[in-house]
Amino acid sequence: MSFFMRELSFFNTSSPSPIQEIQSPLLKERKLRLLVKRDDLLDKSLSGNKWRKLKYNLHEAFNQQKKCLLTFGGAYSNHLYATAAAGQRFGIPTIGIVRGEAVEPPNPTIRFLRACQMKLHFVSRHAYRQKTDLLDQLDLDLTDCYILPEGGSNPLAMKGCTELVEETREQLAFVPEVWALACGTGATLAGLIEGLGGTAQALGIAVLRDASLGERIQSLLSRPLTDNWSLCLDYHFGGYARFDEELIQWINDFRRQFGIPLEPLYTGKLFFGLFDLIQQGYFPVGTTILAVHTGGLQGIIGFNERFGPLIEN
Ligand SMILES: *Cc1c(COP(=O)(O)O)cnc(C)c1O
Repeated sequence: MSFFMRELSFFNTSSPSPIQEIQSPLLKERKLRLLVKRDDLLDKSLSGNKWRKLKYNLHEAFNQQKKCLLTFGGAYSNHLYATAAAGQRFGIPTIGIVRGEAVEPPNPTIRFLRACQMKLHFVSRHAYRQKTDLLDQLDLDLTDCYILPEGGSNPLAMKGCTELVEETREQLAFVPEVWALACGTGATLAGLIEGLGGTAQALGIAVLRDASLGERIQSLLSRPLTDNWSLCLDYHFGGYARFDEELIQWINDFRRQFGIPLEPLYTGKLFFGLFDLIQQGYFPVGTTILAVHTGGLQGIIGFNERFGPLIEN
């Protein structure tokens, strides 16, 4: 058995991510339970939803006997980070197409990608938008390359996210009524909706400003489900990677209070939104909410290097 396959089978038997209950006066007063599925703790570098999204894609790349993985992302991308980590761990070369010109000195995410031997191509934002032409222009030999879309979002990624449901059900021996998570492309939410199959409500908190996100999630689903999920567009803070002082303060308070680290792009917005909805009485008394901590904590160092030491750790 190759190194690649041995490591993958190891991962299939690895333990589920822990589930932690949050206790607070607000939750007590509203008679709600809030559980956190700590996918950020799955592994040091291969964690969060980006690992779940990669898992079956790696199997597929191996089955197709591909010799490398190629994918796309921004200079702080959690997806590039996970892909590079997977490449190194499973012994498959990786190529990253990075949006925007190379900046010196490189940010911590780029340093990690390089340390994992990911081959990087920096392209202008304009060229990046024309992805197919882009690959022609770069003149790469793609015959043996497994190509993953930006964010790793494809049907196999959804399949990996679907597993969250069964894993959690086995751990808890019950199904929480509401499952909440942060939405970027929406593929993780779509996988979750499929996995729940109508047995519970899924709630996505959009982290970007995009009125068509709901339609795009709908189009990812294998059958039209509308009653069992909703998308909340009120907590993007102005758009992707936008934030304000209140959000930063809130993230730091949350960590001090509950010992759970959050980052400002995804999970910070999820928990901020969730607590605001709880405050507003959005959830009926007696509801158990399971929030998925989708990881992304690698981004904190780069965020602090860029904006000053805003996020405490
Ligand atoms: C990418 C990412 C998401 C969003 O996942 P989508 O499937 O694109 O919706 C949520 N949380 C974190 C930490 C991420 O890195």
